[in-house]
Amino acid sequence: MKASAFSYARATSVVNALELLVAHGDRAKVLSGGQSLMPAMNLRLISPELIVDIGELAELRGIAVRGDVLSIGALTRHVELQRSPEIATHAPLLTEAIVHVAHPAIRNRGTIGGSLAHADPASELPACMLALNATIVVRSQAGERRIAAGDFFTGIYETVLSPHELLIAVELPVARRNAAHFFSEFARRHGDYAITGLAAQATVAGDIFTELRLVFFAVGDRPVLARSAERLLNVRMTPALLSDASAALGEELEPQEDQQASASMRRHLAKVLLARCVSALLGRSDLNAGGPA
Ligand SMILES: Cc1cc2nc3c(=O)[nH]c(=O)nc-3n(C[C@H](O)[C@H](O)[C@H](O)COP(=O)(O)OP(=O)(O)OC[C@H]3O[C@@H](n4cnc5c(N)ncnc54)[C@H](O)[C@@H]3O)c2cc1C
Repeated sequence: MKASAFSYARATSVVNALELLVAHGDRAKVLSGGQSLMPAMNLRLISPELIVDIGELAELRGIAVRGDVLSIGALTRHVELQRSPEIATHAPLLTEAIVHVAHPAIRNRGTIGGSLAHADPASELPACMLALNATIVVRSQAGERRIAAGDFFTGIYETVLSPHELLIAVELPVARRNAAHFFSEFARRHGDYAITGLAAQATVAGDIFTELRLVFFAVGDRPVLARSAERLLNVRMTPALLSDASAALGEELEPQEDQQASASMRRHLAKVLLARCVSALLGRSDLNAGGPA
């Protein structure tokens, strides 16, 4: 199928893009890498009247470290995240996660801003933003808003972005000493959207977690920061404790059923990932010996 007829405008600046968005309201759509927008238009899931192409706006591109903040422009492509030494040093969770996003051809065009604005609950980058406690920076003609990643995603393909706003950057605290991360997902084939995944960021002192952000994805309408992880903080880990946390995780998650997996399978896979994650982060193979409770 082909997209419905639409008009096209190439924005010359952020100011110009915002003018176009205000003038056309929800009849306009922003185009970044086009890797989600164009398929949706071709399938006629959406039919915007105007495409506002921001792809040439150099001011939205790039990765920089300022003090203890790592800033990533919205138009930074997946492949640039993958290859960036700054990302590898200061947010290695992203380096590990990004190779699970689709395939090289899509990573060559897709952008971090597009992925976050698209807000697919099975996407890797939204979950990483939550795990890394990111701030998402958006701009409108009224000025800039800074939104915690935990408040940004509101449902399947839904965020707090209004049609008049542009996502312009994300900011991440740089990884601290003793920081550790874990990323893993189950997918039918490498590069497919996840059936269930986990992005985790932790601080480990000896063999104790002093911080643990476990974010499960593809198990709800948005990435889920697991409250059950709190049970694993500031205590010496035992198989019994992990088993309790696993049971609590099962209660906490409300996965959807679809053609890929049942809700109970997703819940089971999340528990498997929890055990693998805790075992890997603490270097304790005994914790993963029997799989999930
Ligand atoms: C075959 C295939 C497999 C894929 N597999 C995966 C996968 O496994 N994991 C995964 O995470 N993704 C996957 N994707 C999606 C891919 O990662 C996209 O690149 C990404 O979701 C969107 O980025 P984009 O820059 O292409 O955004 P676009 O397609 O240009 O835009 C996506 C949406 O975000 C809006 N938008 C874009 N930029 C902004 C902005 N700066 N401010 C406000 N709104 C904006 C657009 O209006 C549109 O609604 C896959 C895509 C395909 C085609």
